[in-house]
Amino acid sequence: MNQQDLLSFDKNHIWHPYSSMQNSLPVYPVVSAEGVYLQLEDGRKLIDGMASWWSVIHGYNHPKLNAAIKNQLDKMAHVMFGGLTHRPAVELADLLVKITPESLEQVFFCDSGSVAVEVAIKMAIQYWYAAGQPQKQKLLTIRYGYHGDTFGAMAVCDPINGMHNIFSHVLPTHYFADAPTCRNDEEWNEQEIANFQQLLEQHHNDIAAVILEPLLQGAGGMRVYCPEYLRQVSLLCNEYQVLLILDEIATGFGRTGTLFACEQANVIPDILCLGKALTGGYMSLAATLTTAEISNTISSQPPGVFMHGPTFMANPLACSVAVASIKLLLESPWQQRISQLENQLLVDLSVGIALSQVADVRVLGAVGIVELKNNIDIEQVQQKFVKLGVWIRPFRNLIYIMPPYIITPAELTKVTDAIIEVIKTL
Ligand SMILES: *Cc1c(COP(=O)(O)O)cnc(C)c1O
Repeated sequence: MNQQDLLSFDKNHIWHPYSSMQNSLPVYPVVSAEGVYLQLEDGRKLIDGMASWWSVIHGYNHPKLNAAIKNQLDKMAHVMFGGLTHRPAVELADLLVKITPESLEQVFFCDSGSVAVEVAIKMAIQYWYAAGQPQKQKLLTIRYGYHGDTFGAMAVCDPINGMHNIFSHVLPTHYFADAPTCRNDEEWNEQEIANFQQLLEQHHNDIAAVILEPLLQGAGGMRVYCPEYLRQVSLLCNEYQVLLILDEIATGFGRTGTLFACEQANVIPDILCLGKALTGGYMSLAATLTTAEISNTISSQPPGVFMHGPTFMANPLACSVAVASIKLLLESPWQQRISQLENQLLVDLSVGIALSQVADVRVLGAVGIVELKNNIDIEQVQQKFVKLGVWIRPFRNLIYIMPPYIITPAELTKVTDAIIEVIKTL
């Protein structure tokens, strides 16, 4: 198949994320990737500003991560997890229990972030069922959230940009509080939490859990909010006997400057969802962690088991590369690196504030966001970025990057320069 045939087959037969089969946007064939670079079929090399959707934190084709998979492959690629166990899963669970807040002790492995969220929601509902409060089945969240594309997860995504209306007859309805408007660097104003508090006050009897992305709302709007909001949420959850689910699928593993974003608010969830960077971007794997109190309550009442069990649960290849990725992260000076990335993003992107096309610039850890005043033509903008040798995939009016942690200052400059240059042409 030559490149033209390949692209035409792709166009006619393959769905891409959020794509149309009639008006498909161009896709760029990648043949290999190394460090922060994507190698295209036509010979061009792009610096990846997206880390393949937050996940490739150590860069591509990393010798240590490759070795972890190769070693495991020679032993076994997969075995079922019902009635069997293996060292990669145990080692990974041990690491996750050690690096997450102390009260999180039980680990459920699954295949993707969305499923980790489904599992978290089921855990919360089954917990209250076992605790003799089966009416607690609703969730409370905030606007502009994103928690995945499966039904349970979709029902807690932002009702407008999550397009609930198409699926409204099959989606469960939950409670949505106003999103916080206080920025990470702004002073706390009590009014911020009023709407959330009111909903909890009114409905806590049927609410099983609150679910949130801590400090940074990702795909629902790339919004950064102050840690105090999260702290208040956590206090209110305790007061009203509602569980707190934190979705750290995007923020986990150092992205916001601490290993987990909840640490910046001193908040400990009852249930924690991890995914994306868990395997260093090598394979699809996610995990839902919870407390002994929740898992014991679930296990102590009929049916006596937690009702979930994916076919590829705890895949040994994925667990092995996750163990290697976490060790690599912990052995690296990651805090220093994220803080350098944060400082450079602040300096480089702040140039954008002066541009008439720009509404806002936000930076948190190794995440840089430029919000434009108008929605952009993604195809056209992406093409411009590719011409400048960088890979950035904007959405709506948002141009954002969360590069691999190994990106050098010069490479990051190339990415941020491209952002400013492209915005000037809009
Ligand atoms: C990406 C993401 C998910 C969904 O993960 P998938 O692996 O795409 O299913 C859920 N929550 C958050 C915060 C995410 O960023």
